[in-house]
Amino acid sequence: MNDYLKFEPSVKPLHKDSREDYWYLFKDNKLMVLKEKGEVKIPRWKDVDVLNISIYNIQSMGSYYNCNCKCGEIIDDINEENIEFLNLRTLSTLVDEESYLLASKANLLLNWLKLNQYCGVCGSKMYKKDSKFERAMVCSNCGNTTWPRTSPAIIVAVTKGDRLLLAHNKYFPEGKYSVIAGFVEYGETFEDCVKREVFEEVGIKIKNIKYFGSQPWPYPNSMMIGFTAEYLDGDIKVDGEEILHADWFTKEEVLGLYNKSISIGSELIEWFLKNH
Ligand SMILES: [Zn+2]
Repeated sequence: MNDYLKFEPSVKPLHKDSREDYWYLFKDNKLMVLKEKGEVKIPRWKDVDVLNISIYNIQSMGSYYNCNCKCGEIIDDINEENIEFLNLRTLSTLVDEESYLLASKANLLLNWLKLNQYCGVCGSKMYKKDSKFERAMVCSNCGNTTWPRTSPAIIVAVTKGDRLLLAHNKYFPEGKYSVIAGFVEYGETFEDCVKREVFEEVGIKIKNIKYFGSQPWPYPNSMMIGFTAEYLDGDIKVDGEEILHADWFTKEEVLGLYNKSISIGSELIEWFLKNH
């Protein structure tokens, strides 16, 4: 199993508790990490146990390399030299992708629990469903059930010959450009969303929309679905509301504009640089 699926989700622990279990602990939306010889690590139970802290909302996430993964929240202040608290974006630059994705899962799970304490239908208290396989919150009064949710968003690299479409969003810092992205509307296909977002934001039509890959984006609970596409028709005309400037950039220009990161937007730009 481990060779094929490294992480096996489970509502209840799959192994006996161990001092090697991974613990994803959050305080004010920041993850507790261990700093060892300049490296950032996810704490194991043996690291957490010695801190003598109270942990709330403990959840089993599943199994990772035959160790239980658990998450929870802490309130206590910890003043240990080797303990630090990082937000997920900072974490993404300091640990391997798997550890980052597990931290994202933990954050999503804890936030989902927080947001579903009361029933959206009748307002009564919700409780965790007692199930080995199904992670759900159930209303104590009307039985309304909710499951953890993600909100899909598309992100697309549009090329025109040897150039890549990049846009400057009004929320970006000065000089930052990225590929086009946007949330999927309810009942919309990903492909239609790709066409719509590109047309709405920069006014061009595209063709050959191809799936590229996906990435959970836990800010707070998105899932980025990546695509590549080619220019079909039209002149760039930015919407002026979300996108302030957009243009076709050569490989050399792209290199000067972008910083590599763990994001799928960065992977799409890498794909362009490698293939054009
Ligand atoms: Zn209810």
